[in-house]
Formats: sequence, structure tokens, C-alpha cells
Amino acid sequence: MEHVQVLITGGGIGGLSAAIWCQRLGLSCLLVEKADHIGGQLLHIRNEIVDFPPRVYPHGYDLLEDLKLHPAIQTLHPRLEEAVISIDPLTHIVTTTKNSYQADFVIVATGVSANVIPALEGCSRVLSTEFSTTAQAPLITGQDIAVIGGGDRALESAANLSKFANRVDLLIRSHHLRARTQWTTRLDELPNLRVFWETQIDTYEVRDEKIALKLRSVGSGQPYEIVVDWILPRIGVHGNSDSFPSLATFGDGYLQTDDFQRTSPEWIYALGDVSNGASYASLSLAVGQAMKAVKHISLQIQHP
Ligand SMILES: Cc1cc2nc3c(=O)[nH]c(=O)nc-3n(C[C@H](O)[C@H](O)[C@H](O)COP(=O)(O)OP(=O)(O)OC[C@H]3O[C@@H](n4cnc5c(N)ncnc54)[C@H](O)[C@@H]3O)c2cc1C
Repeated sequence: MEHVQVLITGGGIGGLSAAIWCQRLGLSCLLVEKADHIGGQLLHIRNEIVDFPPRVYPHGYDLLEDLKLHPAIQTLHPRLEEAVISIDPLTHIVTTTKNSYQADFVIVATGVSANVIPALEGCSRVLSTEFSTTAQAPLITGQDIAVIGGGDRALESAANLSKFANRVDLLIRSHHLRARTQWTTRLDELPNLRVFWETQIDTYEVRDEKIALKLRSVGSGQPYEIVVDWILPRIGVHGNSDSFPSLATFGDGYLQTDDFQRTSPEWIYALGDVSNGASYASLSLAVGQAMKAVKHISLQIQHP
């Protein structure tokens, strides 16, 4: 079995920054990434990144290209298409889809995944959670679209799509919005937007290349339907922590950590989105936490 000093799980900006800090502090590390490429969510950012100083990046792709030029990343040799499936809290054995490792320390930087709506499983007219309502909105020009959710991303998506769509239906499960005023105040300005409050989706039916969504009022139980061309779920994300059931979460799969990014057991650290919750998800926080975690590991090694 391969021995690893620091095993980093996840090749998003958090995991990659941890690898840079390992090299800087003289620790040997191995980065294991589930996908066939590094970058994680960076590849889904199609907006301008204005809050990761000093540069303003047109897209996440540009930031990733810069990151790939970093000397520590060029010599990293991440193990791609290899997912961590379990960490034994007692033996330090990490099992992946390809291998087993004996790790002194583990850093979990597995990010988040979008929540899905079980009632829409198999529906071919559900847009990917990575659909960009800025870059790809012209693709739905003149069509009817249902956006599902009541948070910032749902409202932002509805506002962006309304410029191109024939009609946007916003389906909200509760009777209030969770979005910032910046977005809620814009709703009234969108002439082709209909809002369906306290609405849940029961099922769907394909009808003449359109989708009939069978809806139900959460309050009264009254069924009704709308017909649309496309559906865009924007119902939030959850932490990718299913493979680590022994680690405590603070809800929705987000891993609990202390001030040094340690979980319990203390040799397993967590950082980035998987430990931050949706409200604090950001590139800068993931990068800062990577520094803190690796520096703490380095101090543990020097002064156990
Ligand atoms: C559309 C969009 C726009 C955004 N815009 C901004 C912005 O402008 N500014 C900003 O600061 N932030 C922005 N963010 C948030 C930012 O992208 C994230 O906070 C950041 O990328 C999180 O990095 P991470 O390394 O924690 O996780 P991720 O980037 O999600 O990386 C996690 C990696 O772990 C891998 N993985 C998952 N499970 C396993 C496993 N079991 N084994 C091995 N590997 C695994 C995944 O494949 C992934 O590559 C945006 C996010 C999105 C989606």
C-alpha cells in the first residue's frame, strides 16, 4: 500500500492551493481528483471574476489556465479519474476507486454538487445545473422556460433568461424568497415573468416536444399544470461528503471544522466549499483555508 504524507481529495482551487502550500512547506502530497481534469467549479464560472484580486478574470477558465502555469501545479501530477470512496478514521487508510493509501494527513476539498429534483429524473428537457444564463441564454430565445427555486441564483437566472425567453415561470416552493433585495426588486420589472408561489412538482409528461409540468399547491393541495420548453432547477447545492460518513456535518453535507480546518479525527482537514456552506462559498476563502490547513499540518509534523 502506498504511503502518503498529505493526501488531498479534490482538484478544485481549494485542493490545488493546498498542493501549492505543501510544496512551499516541504511536505509531500498526492492529489486525487474524481473528474478527468482539474479545476472543479472554476470551469463552470462563466461570469467575470472581480473578487479574486488582483486580476479581473473574464471567466473561471482563464483563472484555471493561469493556475496550471504555477510551478507547483506543473509538477503535481494529480491522479485523475480517481475518487476517494472512504477514509477509515482509525487506520488512516484511504480507499479510492483505483487504490488504497496509508495517509498521515488527509485534506478533503471535494466542493459541492447541485441538488436535484427527483420528480424530474429522466426528463430530457431539464437544463444542466452548469447552464450559464449569461453565456448560453440565447439558446432558448423565444421559448418558454420554468426556473425552479427562490434564492439568488434562481432569481438571477430568471432575470437573465427573461431577456431572451418568450415566457419565464418561476416556481417557488415556499411563500417567500431567500434572495437578496438586489434580485427581488427586479422581479416586478420583468414583463414576461410569472411567479408560482408555494408550488411543488409532482411529475412531468412529454407533450408535442414540450414538457407539461404537473404541479401542486403546497398549501391547498390543488393540482395544476404549466407547459414549457425547458426547465432550469436552481435549488441550491450540498457538500460532497457522502464518502465520509464518520465526519460531522452542520447540515446539507457541509463538514464541520475547527479554526485550523480540522475535522474530528484531527488528522483529517476539510476546506473550500465542502466546509463553508453556500453563503461563504468563494475562491478567496478556499485559498486562504488551504494555507491555514497545510501550515497547521506542517506545525503538527515539526512539533507533534
Ligand atoms: C457559476 C459560478 C460562479 C461563481 N462565481 C464566483 C466568483 O465570481 N467569485 C468567487 O469567489 N467564487 C465564485 N464561485 C464559487 C467558487 O467557484 C467556489 O467557491 C470554489 O471554486 C470552490 O472551490 P473548491 O476547491 O472548494 O471546490 P470545487 O471547485 O467544487 O472542487 C472540488 C473538486 O473535488 C472533486 N471531487 C468531489 N468528490 C470527490 C471525491 N470523492 N474524490 C476525489 N475528488 C472529488 C470534484 O470533481 C472537484 O473537482 C462561483 C461558483 C459558480 C458555480
